[in-house]
Amino acid sequence: TLIFAVESSCDETAAALIDGAGNLLADVVASQIDFHARFGGVVPEIASRKHIEAICGVASECMDAARKHITPREASMFSWKSLDAISVTYAPGLLGALVVGVAWAKGVAWALEIPVIGVNHLEGHLYANKIGNDWLKPPLVASLVSGGNTLLVHVQAWGSYHTLGSTIDDAVGEAFDKVAKALGLGYPGGPHISRLAKQGNPRAIAFPRAMLHSGDYRFSLSGLKTAVITYINNAKQRHEELPVADIAASFQQAVIDVQVEKSRTALRETGAKVFCLGGGVAANPQLRRAYEEMCAEEGVRLALPPLRSCGDNAGMIALVAYDRYKQGKFFNIGFDPQARCNLDEPY
Ligand code: ATP
Ligand code: MG
Ligand code: FE
Repeated sequence: TLIFAVESSCDETAAALIDGAGNLLADVVASQIDFHARFGGVVPEIASRKHIEAICGVASECMDAARKHITPREASMFSWKSLDAISVTYAPGLLGALVVGVAWAKGVAWALEIPVIGVNHLEGHLYANKIGNDWLKPPLVASLVSGGNTLLVHVQAWGSYHTLGSTIDDAVGEAFDKVAKALGLGYPGGPHISRLAKQGNPRAIAFPRAMLHSGDYRFSLSGLKTAVITYINNAKQRHEELPVADIAASFQQAVIDVQVEKSRTALRETGAKVFCLGGGVAANPQLRRAYEEMCAEEGVRLALPPLRSCGDNAGMIALVAYDRYKQGKFFNIGFDPQARCNLDEPY
């Protein structure tokens, strides 16, 4: 079995190919970051246009990369006609970006007369944890932290999710990006903040830990973001030199403290003995270390996605599609992309 996957929900155009044993034969990502960086964020209109320009090339590149992983005999027979299904991210994300991948997938599925499988992008970020962690199995608790989402999920089984809580305002990645912008750093801000934070003191400035004791699993990041921006503006007004590294470290620590404590509570309440982390912010080294410490304290096994699979990619979409293919969960070719989607009812 060969399942092709495409992802175009935000600003990376990606394609991957997975075989019948669940091995990723190819996993190609083309980022548009350079085109958005000068605007300080993703411009939806530009994202759509760049996806249109890139998608056929990225798909061909993926097929070429896969060819190198199969025997010469297989390679001589290998073509688009070898595919058994096409999968694609259908939600959530930028509608104009999603529609490019979805239209491409429908066209190819139609032409090859093979089924199409729609995949929820957040379920993809969750499945990225399977890469390099063969032991990973629900029940587990997952934290999904990315540019557009922040949620804690109780995974009862693959495909069966209960969202424990999510952000009531900004996403964690969004907060990193906005704080980075206020500090005059580039886009995306997450990697800049985490690099600077290594040189700073995380206890230097007492930024608020919003919702830490709210007794539920909701998050709020906009107050923290405002506190950091206010701190920066006050320092500037007093013509003081900005303690940039301390601001980055203290902001990051405020985020980490809340994320980790709510995750700890979720583990205790659900009784789950496995935890995993997904989404672009999962690449943050200090966040990863904090989760390693907490899980060791709680006697919980931790899975982390490989660094290259934290941000958007199609490998994670292929992994979800692999499960759905086995279950025969195909989409009617008339399906539409959706900007928003609840993980609790991904289909
Ligand atoms: P969503 O997955 O919610 O649809 P998205 O796909 O745009 O949103 P991702 O690509 O999964 O988001 O993640 C991008 C986010 O990850 C950005 O906000 C970026 O700043 C953040 N990020 C990347 N690396 C780091 C890091 N080292 N530390 C913190 N944040 C990071
Ligand atoms: Mg991105
Ligand atoms: Fe994402």
